[in-house]
Amino acid sequence: MDNCIFCKIAAKQIPAQIIYEDDDMLAFNDINPAAPVHFLIVPKKHLATLADCTTNDAALLGKISLLAPKLAQELGCGYSMDEKGVATGGFKTLFNIGPDGGQEVYHLHMHVIGGPRPWRRSLA
Ligand code: AMP
Ligand code: ZN
Repeated sequence: MDNCIFCKIAAKQIPAQIIYEDDDMLAFNDINPAAPVHFLIVPKKHLATLADCTTNDAALLGKISLLAPKLAQELGCGYSMDEKGVATGGFKTLFNIGPDGGQEVYHLHMHVIGGPRPWRRSLA
């Protein structure tokens, strides 16, 4: 897609701090992080918003969802529950959709946000 910043990152036409990549998606650090850990998981296929996805994209959305906790764990904000049932860690996942959803970049992406609080209020 011409003039799409995330398509350009996926095509390595503009730089980003890429933390994961496979055939279908990549993850890179948000350029304006709202928290100590803040990265975006982005499909290589251009889809404008979550609302543009169809059942054809179900597997891709599943992969994105499953990658989030894996990378969060690697980056030190994973979620776990100990043998006593005490939960620790954790993170937030977020899709912004459309203007009222606060979407600025119209290429589907999941925000993954975590690390010690406080976080930027607008995303907390
Ligand atoms: P959204 O409001 O959900 O569309 O969020 C877009 C996010 O993309 C924002 O958090 C921006 O900080 C982030 N962003 C914009 N341009 C870049 C870039 N070149 N590299 C990394 N993150 C970016
Ligand atoms: Zn795109």
